[in-house]
Amino acid sequence: MAKVPVVDPDLCTGCGICSETCPDVFSLEGDIAVVTDPNGASEEEIQEAIDNCPVEAISWEEE
Ligand code: SF4
Repeated sequence: MAKVPVVDPDLCTGCGICSETCPDVFSLEGDIAVVTDPNGASEEEIQEAIDNCPVEAISWEEE
């Protein structure tokens, strides 16, 4: 079982911090972050993006 990051679009403010931290994983579509490639960075890097999200919109989900 792999875990993948998911963004809650109801919480995301589109600040862009996650896409700056992990540009291969997250990108902004309009003013909402989406996951473009859940394997685009190491788990540690994705965890950093999760920890840096100011509104805690990113979480892990079991695949
Ligand atoms: S860091 Fe959080 S609020 Fe900012 S764009 Fe990413 S998911 Fe949205």
